[in-house]
Amino acid sequence: MSYFDSVRIVLVNSTHPGNIGGAARAIKNMGLSRLYLVAPRDFPADRAVWRAANAVDVLDNAIVVDNLDEAIAGCGLVVGTSARERRIPWPLLNPRECGERAWLEAAHHDVAIVFGREDRGLTNEELQKCNYHVHIPSNPEYSSLNLAAAVQVLCYEVRMASLSAAQSESPPLPDWDMPPAKAEALELYFQHLEQALVDLGFHDRENPRQTMTRLRRLYGRIRLDEMELSILRGVLTSIQNAVHRMHSALQKKTDS
Ligand code: SAH
Repeated sequence: MSYFDSVRIVLVNSTHPGNIGGAARAIKNMGLSRLYLVAPRDFPADRAVWRAANAVDVLDNAIVVDNLDEAIAGCGLVVGTSARERRIPWPLLNPRECGERAWLEAAHHDVAIVFGREDRGLTNEELQKCNYHVHIPSNPEYSSLNLAAAVQVLCYEVRMASLSAAQSESPPLPDWDMPPAKAEALELYFQHLEQALVDLGFHDRENPRQTMTRLRRLYGRIRLDEMELSILRGVLTSIQNAVHRMHSALQKKTDS
């Protein structure tokens, strides 16, 4: 298996099958192979096959899933694409840096590059599941590319990164003793964290403000490894147990 197979392109809720076909073609042209479709509106479809030209194998092997969590499961790096600025800034890569980072990390674990809906892009919730965002620096007055064209640009950058890595010995990832936490483990951690903060009385689900968004961004910047994540889960459980013991003690006092 080549590193190209470790980079998956994820299309969320695509409306037009032609774009799915165009994306498949872009993926294969650039030497990638893996396409994940999150609840596509119309797939399989003749128009997708037609636009894919000779890349129907990418369509045939596409994995259709119900939600983004399933599509990024197992990934150690998730990059979300965005056609515009969002309210809460996120660690940002340009397309070149995205290609380089994806290629560098593909040697170690699966990488996902996530694309949004033709009309609305990715939701904030979906973007917050990503380690980085990438924006193709288009004309600010007309910034939104066609979906398949955006896939083309980012797959091209992965290919360019692979070519320059082949020429010059590219710097390997720093020698780390633990693999990075994967997307699904992080998602469980955030659920656990939110519940612990509720138990503590720190966080109110009815009035969440931007607390969880900012915490997700904080942890995203750190890129937790598997061991760190497991220690933090243990800390949360201990906090919850302590809160629980405190509540029962208070309850006993009021009962007696
Ligand atoms: N009106 C939508 C545009 C969606 S374009 C919005 O404002 O978000 C469909 C998808 O193509 C986007 O979700 C993104 O994945 C990709 N895309 C289009 N233009 C892009 C750009 N300039 N940079 C990065 N991704 C882009």
